[in-house]
Amino acid sequence: MTALVGRFAPSPTGPLHFGSVVSAVASFLDVRAQGGRWLLRIDDLDPPRIEAGAAEHILITLEALALQWDGAVVYQSARSEAYAQALAQLTALGQVYVCHCSRKDIGVGPYPGTCRTGTGATNTGAWRVRVNDQPLCIADCVQGAYMQNLTQHCGDFVVRRADGIFAYHLATVVDDAWSGVTQITRGSDLLESTPRQVHLQRLLDLPTPRYAHLPVVLDTDGAKLSKQTYASAIDAGNAHRALFEALAFLGLAPPAELRGAAAEQLLVWALPRWRLSALAPASRPHTACAAGAH
Ligand code: GLU
Repeated sequence: MTALVGRFAPSPTGPLHFGSVVSAVASFLDVRAQGGRWLLRIDDLDPPRIEAGAAEHILITLEALALQWDGAVVYQSARSEAYAQALAQLTALGQVYVCHCSRKDIGVGPYPGTCRTGTGATNTGAWRVRVNDQPLCIADCVQGAYMQNLTQHCGDFVVRRADGIFAYHLATVVDDAWSGVTQITRGSDLLESTPRQVHLQRLLDLPTPRYAHLPVVLDTDGAKLSKQTYASAIDAGNAHRALFEALAFLGLAPPAELRGAAAEQLLVWALPRWRLSALAPASRPHTACAAGAH
């Protein structure tokens, strides 16, 4: 039995679109091809952004794609206690502080650290975690070495919003570690978020999974396909067609006779052919983080 664990973590802000199917299929194949487990988590932390019925629709679509997850679905809305514990841990380490700056105070650009030395105010406000002014390097399996200086990129970032909602970065780090996730395969729109997540893993003494950020699926105008840009929802009744296209996007080139094949059959065909390394952009051969990089 291998200990590889992957996951798919959609936000229920709308039904699955083609880009999220690509992430689901790639993360599934990547662990299942090596006998690993594939988990499903619904990132429903932010009530105003949740669309009624979207989580149920996502589950039905994944079933129609024959992407069967292991174990029970985890809902972030039920995990606040774990996020509060992580925040308490960061507080004990002196790594977080309360911030009362408004959006207007901050303006554009990285947070300048205005409240870093204390505002003397109480707990009402957003909680920010301190970051370092050093390059942080992610050795991504698809994108190669990715460097970011968090001070210059975003500054001390929010881990709990003023309205009490825990931020995605903290929640995902806590949940991935709690579920024993070892492989994170997701869209490269999340690559720039990864250094914040690795920073939190280091502070909380949690393991850093292996990251693979997939090429982003663009629409014909070159814009990222997303629920916000109203990319069309995947129709569960026709999921096998989306699966065929997702496999083609992932470089597997399914033969034409499999067009119209059932989702199970497509996955059986794809599993022994899966190679994550085939996705590395030719223009950016795999590069490692330099020795001594943080
Ligand atoms: N829930 C996030 C999203 O749908 C992705 C989380 C993740 O893969 O880390 O964009």
